[in-house]
Amino acid sequence: MGDRHPKAEVEAALQKAEHAGLKVKKDPNGHRWGRLICCPCAAETKVWGTPKCPGTEAKKILEFVRKHAKCV
Ligand SMILES: [Zn+2]
Repeated sequence: MGDRHPKAEVEAALQKAEHAGLKVKKDPNGHRWGRLICCPCAAETKVWGTPKCPGTEAKKILEFVRKHAKCV
């Protein structure tokens, strides 16, 4: 994926997610930025483009990565 998340903290979390083997899918339309997907168990979480608190959004992503790192 070529598009970076506008918030550095969130972008860093998304990169960790990709390195862990999870899929980051940019949403071309809509107000959410994209989705983070765990292919093996089909779980996904929304990634907001303009989170009120980027730190919380990043934490949510990292928690998802921790939870699903064992799936991939
Ligand atoms: Zn999973």
